Amino acid sequence: MQTVLVTGATGFIASHLIMNLLDQGYHVRGTARSAAKGRRLNEVLSAHAGRDIDIPLVEANLKDDAGWADALNGVDYVQHVASPFPADKPKSADELIIPARDGALRVLKAAKAEGVKRVVMTSSMAAVGYGLGDKRPARFDETNWSNPDNLKDNTAYTRSKTIAERAAWDYVNGEGQGLELAVINPVAVLGPAMSEDVSSSLQLISQPLEGKLPAYPKLSFGVVDVRDVAEAHVRAMTLDEAAGERFIVGDRVMWMEEIGEVMRQAYPDRKIPKGTLPNWAVRLFANLNPSLKQILPELGKERDFSNEKMKTVLGMTPIPAEDAIKASAESLIRLGIV
Ligand code: NDP
Repeated sequence: MQTVLVTGATGFIASHLIMNLLDQGYHVRGTARSAAKGRRLNEVLSAHAGRDIDIPLVEANLKDDAGWADALNGVDYVQHVASPFPADKPKSADELIIPARDGALRVLKAAKAEGVKRVVMTSSMAAVGYGLGDKRPARFDETNWSNPDNLKDNTAYTRSKTIAERAAWDYVNGEGQGLELAVINPVAVLGPAMSEDVSSSLQLISQPLEGKLPAYPKLSFGVVDVRDVAEAHVRAMTLDEAAGERFIVGDRVMWMEEIGEVMRQAYPDRKIPKGTLPNWAVRLFANLNPSLKQILPELGKERDFSNEKMKTVLGMTPIPAEDAIKASAESLIRLGIV
């Protein structure tokens, strides 16, 4: 039986990835920042699967060398999923950039030392389509790279994902030559949550369901189901053609108003907002609520993307965005989060 290490095992994507790997017969080990959260993960996975799951967990933090050599010991493949993904703007961009980049390098170096067969890294559309100003293509594909130096069209998070993915490719093309790397670049990940500790991306679903918004800012997102993201990671781990490649995974771009409309249809009894706010109104709100300032550069922008490589190389047909939205909403309601 082959062993796969999943970093950031407690997260939304990682939990689905672990289930997928276990279902395919892999032996899975995880890393978690805290042992208590790791124990909770096994309860969450067991409840989800309806059977006892007890994967071994090693404590390791992306910011620290401790734990990584133990975590990698005897491992065949690595799924490097961990990276800071906070809902709020950090005080300094380095709070995200340093653990994302240095953590990826720690994992890759330990993987190289252990002689693992391949590392799959979770990057993001954030590393594909940001910081390009007017030079944005009409449709993004895997040949496009974000420019992390243009601070206007970026957040600390999008910069952290770009800098970390660049550092990973530079490592395997240089000092780490011989180590195989494949990268998954998901758009906004929706789909069923397994626990109440939800990823920041599910705010796209929880906020409208809570009826807190008056209407939607004119923002758009590519949508992908977390179950497809998990499957893409597993296929990228073993397919020969996936080595050395990056893959955008997603179904299609939707405006927030469209996402809300799917939920309004599914839950007609809930007070779910309708309509789009004019951009001037969002700018006005941002003066009162500075956390909204982050979204201002995104107003009215659409980042269309190609999922051809996901279809042809990974052989996947995306779960429709509408199904991902409904599955998220259903899980958030069932878990009592909204
Ligand atoms: P989660 O917040 O659920 O997962 C993030 C994971 O990273 C958590 O397990 C977290 O650990 C771990 N982590 C954060 N900082 C550190 C650190 N310093 N050391 C060790 N572990 C750390 O989010 P997702 O599951 O959505 O995100 C997983 C990955 O997918 C991330 O790399 C994210 O950038 C990427 N991604 C997510 C998208 C989305 O829309 N959700 C879209 C594209 C990419 P802990 O539980 O201890 O906080």
